[in-house]
Amino acid sequence: MKGLKGKNVLVTGASSGIGQAIAVRFAQEGANVAINYRKNPEDAKETEEMVENACGEIRGCGVESLLVQADVSQEEDVVKMVAAVVEKFGRLDILINNAGIQIEGAAHEMKIEDFDRVVAVNLRGAYICARETLKHFLSRSGGGVILNISSVHEIIPKPKYVGYSVSKGGMENLTRSLALEYASNNIRVNAIAPGATITPINKSWINDPEAKAEVESNIPMGRAGTSEEMAASVAFLCSNEAAYITGQTLFIDGGLTLYPSFREPWSS
Ligand code: NAD
Repeated sequence: MKGLKGKNVLVTGASSGIGQAIAVRFAQEGANVAINYRKNPEDAKETEEMVENACGEIRGCGVESLLVQADVSQEEDVVKMVAAVVEKFGRLDILINNAGIQIEGAAHEMKIEDFDRVVAVNLRGAYICARETLKHFLSRSGGGVILNISSVHEIIPKPKYVGYSVSKGGMENLTRSLALEYASNNIRVNAIAPGATITPINKSWINDPEAKAEVESNIPMGRAGTSEEMAASVAFLCSNEAAYITGQTLFIDGGLTLYPSFREPWSS
């Protein structure tokens, strides 16, 4: 995709799932990839290997990779992470705010620490990473791109996951506010909103055929999405093909946000 070769990209929460697929996709596009992990470098080794082998025989496609620790909810960690990426690659061009968690619990019983933790990682963490990246973008010429991984729960309520709903709802305005504030600096800020995607965050159903069939029965296209499908749209939105797109959330959900219960008319 146009404009990604030679770019330097930081992907948060890149040890698994959608973040891992994004890291690999950028390497395939010829970008250098900083792979963020929360705590244990061992967790990110698989992604590092996949990035290094992203082009099969041609090891590394000529791209560089960097494993970089940070709990995105910790301001100090994030400051150090962005500095480490800039030091290694010389500059940072693209930030992917992917790190995310969810904690289940009825809203009237949810421990406040659980609510705070989800918002701190998914929303506040994305903001801290964006803030540090924006400082860097503004410190040199050429602009940059921030891409947030939101969710269909940006607009679909998620009972029993109020922290998650709130964090992803907030992400819409994080995306739009930053896009407007920095549009004149040639900095684009967009988001993707995945529907049900086969990743470890969905361990409760991805390996259980009955539970998976139940999930997929709610999706108009009849199947869950893959991390690679999410990564393809991320690559597009970060590329020069999307040079005039900012402040948008692209829903990638097999039709999940199309009010599936209206498939058959029931209101008239
Ligand atoms: P995942 O659990 O595989 O990935 C989440 C990643 O975030 C993990 O690698 C984890 O280590 C990392 N992480 C968690 N807390 C962190 C922290 N404090 N600091 C740094 N990293 C941290 O699940 P996934 O599905 O790949 O999730 C990626 C993103 O996609 C999340 O933001 C999630 O909300 C979003 N999403 C997923 C789905 C889905 O169905 N899988 C749907 C919509 C949105």
